[in-house]
Amino acid sequence: MTAMQLKGLLSSGEAGSRDIMESVLNEIESKESSVKAYITVRERKELLDEAEKVDARRKSGEEVGVLDGLPIAVKDNICTEGVLTTCASRMLADFVPPYNAAVVEKILGADGIIIGKTNLDEFSMGSSTENSIIGPTRNPHNYDYVPGGTSGGSAAAVAANECILAIGSDTGGSIRQPASFCGVVGIKPTYGRVSRYGLIAFASSLDQIGVLAKDVKDTALLMGVIAGHDARDTTCINTEVPDYIGKLDGKQKYRVGVPKEYFEEGLNDEVRESIERVIDLLKNDGHEIVQVSLPKTDYAVAAYYIIACAEASSNLARYDGVRYTFRAEGVNDLNEMYFNTRAEGFGEEVKRRIILGTYVLSSGYYDAYYLKASKVRSMLIDEYTAAFKQCDFLINPVAPTAAFKIGEKINDPLEMYLSDIYSTIANLTGMPAISISCGKTKEGLPIGVQIAAKPLDEKLLLSAALGIEALLVTKAPR
Ligand code: GLN
Repeated sequence: MTAMQLKGLLSSGEAGSRDIMESVLNEIESKESSVKAYITVRERKELLDEAEKVDARRKSGEEVGVLDGLPIAVKDNICTEGVLTTCASRMLADFVPPYNAAVVEKILGADGIIIGKTNLDEFSMGSSTENSIIGPTRNPHNYDYVPGGTSGGSAAAVAANECILAIGSDTGGSIRQPASFCGVVGIKPTYGRVSRYGLIAFASSLDQIGVLAKDVKDTALLMGVIAGHDARDTTCINTEVPDYIGKLDGKQKYRVGVPKEYFEEGLNDEVRESIERVIDLLKNDGHEIVQVSLPKTDYAVAAYYIIACAEASSNLARYDGVRYTFRAEGVNDLNEMYFNTRAEGFGEEVKRRIILGTYVLSSGYYDAYYLKASKVRSMLIDEYTAAFKQCDFLINPVAPTAAFKIGEKINDPLEMYLSDIYSTIANLTGMPAISISCGKTKEGLPIGVQIAAKPLDEKLLLSAALGIEALLVTKAPR
């Protein structure tokens, strides 16, 4: 059931928060050994007690926050006070933060209950949730396949009913691509819409926290809780948060931009057919379809990996064996301690990116790589800003394929990077983008469609997504 449906049961008294918590914990008990969505699930008793307290308050007539004691999963790169936060890395394997991230504070303030911390690719680098100290998370639709990444644990937990709502982070597609692979909804908000305070940084100019949920209304519900200004994140935008959920009607008519560059070589046929079917549904429903051209899109992945690696090399410099948990043993001097700590504490992919990032920032290469990538980024922003004069939102695939098999791409970093070909642009430009499930492959694996709008247009995005979701249910049931 969705969070909104459960809220209905809670308000009519047909169920209590404790019942919901218990049923989710039972799902975890029966599926988690196969799915492995979580790195940490909090103590059963503690969770049930917290849910009971919410029930007691509701019964006594006290006002309860909009999250109503629902169990919410949080990606393990977001700080939770007193609860292990590992980034799926040996480097932070024992790190227990002394404070809560801003989004966690907000969830608790709205009476959500943090049920546990979900698996990810180490430090959020990857596209499959395979690069993790606990091993891969599996796609609940077929355990031989990846759930996507890096918020694969959050996506799988939502899809497997191992939580009701989840939080992820998205640097280049990490919410939308796993949402697409697991058949759930995922939104990456506008850069600055949600505070990154307490998010363990990977690439600070691209990272954004967002929501994974079963449907669009649930996504809007949690977005409304986590969005908003926070002085502790200087990039957080100080502007009013609209009532996302209250104003969702999905009935407006839109100008739908179809960017031709997203439908060229490399796109899997089944994915293409699914997206084209959504475009047809929109057309038949009276929306105007506008062909747009965004030729700079071709450079996005290259620019993304240069900028992301550069920022990662700087952000991850703090893991030196002194300030955080892991420190290599058996060393003779300080330099050896730094060297061995970083060599042993980080996994392959993280080291690859630190090396690449250090290289593109080094004197002599800075202009050729980092500066050039930053210029490409500015050009992409201009191109996309112009496109939004012609249309209200862009529609395209989230990823070129549906979920791939576990092990299929893990030894081929370039192949893995190319699965982000359509998703990194939203991070480079800062625009909000949402992934909704729109079909399935012959093997029964979900396919996602992405819609993206101009910065701060989340309300429009959610409303349009609600409309598409309704069209898919009524006109072309899956
Ligand atoms: N797959 C992309 C990467 O590896 C995006 C990761 C993310 O969004 N955190 O960088």
